[in-house]
Amino acid sequence: MGYITKSDRMLIGGELVASASGQWEESINPANEAVIGRVPAGTKADVDRAVEAAKGAWPAWADKSPKERGEIMRGFGEKLRERAAEILAVEVADTGNTVAPMRGDVGHAVDSLNYYAGIAHELKGETIPATPGHLHMTVREPYGIVARIVPFNHPLMFAVARTAAALASGNAVIVKPPETSPLSAMLLAEVARDALPAGIFNILTGAGATVGDAIVRHPEIKRIAFIGSARTGMAIQRTAAEVSVKHVTLELGGKNPMLVFPDNDPDEIAQAAVKGMNFTWQGQSCGSTSRLMVHDELYDAVLERVTDIVARMRVGDPMRDDSDMGPLNSAIQYSKVMSYIDGARDEGARLTTGGNRPDGDFFKKGYWVRPTVFADVKPNMRIWREEIFGPVLSVSRWNSLDDAIALANGVEYGLTASIWTRDIKDALRTARRINAGHIWINGVGPHYLGVPYGGMKNSGVGREEGIEEMLSYTETKVLNIIL
Ligand code: NAD
Repeated sequence: MGYITKSDRMLIGGELVASASGQWEESINPANEAVIGRVPAGTKADVDRAVEAAKGAWPAWADKSPKERGEIMRGFGEKLRERAAEILAVEVADTGNTVAPMRGDVGHAVDSLNYYAGIAHELKGETIPATPGHLHMTVREPYGIVARIVPFNHPLMFAVARTAAALASGNAVIVKPPETSPLSAMLLAEVARDALPAGIFNILTGAGATVGDAIVRHPEIKRIAFIGSARTGMAIQRTAAEVSVKHVTLELGGKNPMLVFPDNDPDEIAQAAVKGMNFTWQGQSCGSTSRLMVHDELYDAVLERVTDIVARMRVGDPMRDDSDMGPLNSAIQYSKVMSYIDGARDEGARLTTGGNRPDGDFFKKGYWVRPTVFADVKPNMRIWREEIFGPVLSVSRWNSLDDAIALANGVEYGLTASIWTRDIKDALRTARRINAGHIWINGVGPHYLGVPYGGMKNSGVGREEGIEEMLSYTETKVLNIIL
């Protein structure tokens, strides 16, 4: 067995455990299809155990002062950093993401722990002068037991960074890692066991359809936060509603436009378009600007440069620092991306680079696709409308701004957008008309802690990464005091 880590236990009630089923699921390195580890195949019985543990643990956690909770969270972050190199090696092998940018993931997770640890004092209520004869005041209380369901592209980072707000506000969390990149969660389980009070942080691995579904259906988990595809997000809303009234927030997919006005330098735009597409994660990033919309005057110059940069990208071993792009995450991702590429060819989009597996023995096994650019993509084509979540950039031209905005908005998603012009009025007026939750002006790429992130339309509900996320893990209680 070529397991790269011996860690193979979930975390329930402060103990590293196998699943009640006694079953395991193996995980594969997407670069070569080798089996590299295993995780417990969680079941409903495990969910019940985790809920019992969380129920016993959260009141004492919520009773701590924000300062005390914050100190424990910071300690958790320090312990994660101590194992950052080990986590990185496992994460790269298990996700296929390239090592250089993945070095940031543990740091982002720790930054988020520290940020929410620091703002926990902002869990404040209000006094409201509604009537002269009363003192109306609000207090915030944690839900108690909350769940976080995580996608495959940055498993450890999301499991930590996107539970920090819930911990800071006094909740116990149950984390469900993704099926296809679950191994880093086994290391996280060990760190969390040593750093956090028992029962405050629980990790349940296994299939979405079994353990994920059991989490969503558990009547005592009222608050569910999900990052993943729109299809699963809608299924979770439906399932949750069958059981009881729940607070579900959704961070879903995107088909994000990058709208380029004619007053731009084609070299700068080409660099930005490639960066915004996040080829470095094989395009498997919700915020990727996967629809490049260039004004007629610049279209040919930008397309030529984008094609040139993308064609020169080094696809290779994700463990190597000089690789620009690794393999897709799984066999499912591979066949999905290839079906979009084949469909685009059939529908008449013009392939300018990529579209197939790289040559050479190294790429015979694994889920490899070259970074791909399609030009002259039309709004009726599937690659224009649907999230591919792969390394496929669609390029189209425009010359009427009204038409371009209609085209940008003409998809089901509204997560991010990027607008490029030196004219501040054009930029702000366009931003006002684009239906997206996070818009860059003359930029692409990162979002920053403290700044809300989330989508409109089918890209989601709720905003994360800022104070709003922390408050969303609390319920408001009113005290109405008669004077
Ligand atoms: P997915 O929807 O297939 O799975 C996400 C998680 O949901 C996994 O842990 C899975 O096991 C679980 N799950 C599946 N079925 C379930 C069910 N019935 N009940 C409960 N849980 C279930 O998504 P994915 O393929 O892992 O991730 C890719 C998607 O995530 C893309 O659409 C991408 O845009 C989106 N994403 C969004 C953001 C954001 O912040 N908006 C960030 C990263 C990824």
